[in-house]
Amino acid sequence: MKTRLTVCTRKQRYPTANDAHHAAATATITLRPYRCERCRHYHLTSRTKGKRVPRPLFANTPNDDKAAP
Ligand SMILES: [Zn+2]
Repeated sequence: MKTRLTVCTRKQRYPTANDAHHAAATATITLRPYRCERCRHYHLTSRTKGKRVPRPLFANTPNDDKAAP
């Protein structure tokens, strides 16, 4: 999977993996550094493979009304 040019140009770039990891560690959300094929630098992605994406707290549950006594 190649990084799209628009993604590459718009994203923050990190010259080394160390910089990317440091930035990911200080972020408030889970970020994963990855090597960009286009600029040969590193970007951060919020996509974390193998991990479940947290569901929104206010997800709609349409059947709730029927379940009420
Ligand atoms: Zn890039």
